[in-house]
Amino acid sequence: MINFVGAGPGAVDLITVRGKALLEEADLIIYAGSLVNPGLLDYAKADCRIMDSASMTLEEVLAAMKDAEERGEMTVRLHTGDPCLYGAIREQMDILDKWGIAYEYTPGVSSFSAAAAALKAEYTLPGVSQSVIITRTEGRTPVPERQTIIDYAAHGATMVIFLSTGLVEKLSKELIRGGYSADTPAAIVYKASWPEEKVFRCTVAGLAETAERAGLKNTALILVGPFLTGAYERSRLYDPDFSHTCRRAKEK
Ligand code: SAH
Repeated sequence: MINFVGAGPGAVDLITVRGKALLEEADLIIYAGSLVNPGLLDYAKADCRIMDSASMTLEEVLAAMKDAEERGEMTVRLHTGDPCLYGAIREQMDILDKWGIAYEYTPGVSSFSAAAAALKAEYTLPGVSQSVIITRTEGRTPVPERQTIIDYAAHGATMVIFLSTGLVEKLSKELIRGGYSADTPAAIVYKASWPEEKVFRCTVAGLAETAERAGLKNTALILVGPFLTGAYERSRLYDPDFSHTCRRAKEK
């Protein structure tokens, strides 16, 4: 059996209970060494084999899984955050399907959740933003037409931008071209939930300077939108004048 497991954003106690149990049980762990906290490997049993996929190709990862499967072993494929975002897991699952090898998939806490926690922020504030756009800038991986930063900036919604710390200058220009004002609040969260976590608050226009001054190259998220500062409406859910399925409005 193969288990795809979300490792969480970094802190070793932010993996799920299920994910930790699978690590404890695994005979082989293939982990994404460039981003997964190696401290998670302490959960592995003494005779567990461990491989870092950072220097491996898709074919090599799959060959290692197949080999473990033939020995009757359990493999954990450990991906950073939640594997459903930029995890490159579909291409692994499709080949396992073709080979008739069974797998399960355990979600994880994404770094975009850990970044909100680091900022002590809520992405969806009434009257400010009710949507979160999770995206990336176009780098060596192209983005499909109509899915550019410029297209998304037009909405003025909360944006969480992955994989873009090396391209902040371009990003900042595109956010402004798309419709955000230069003084829209922005933040960069480096290594959310890791011991070395850092939070930088700036504006959309100041993103490049902030990233450069901090020397940030990778493992950071860029957050953009008025959710970071300013006024919002209180929630209806907890409003005394508002009735819903679990509570009647208070008598005046
Ligand atoms: N599946 C992962 C994302 C993998 S893509 C998730 O759900 O978080 C890798 C990118 O994620 C990095 O370039 C960076 O932009 C972001 N990232 C991953 N972990 C991070 C962390 N702890 N803090 C900030 N950004 C992080």
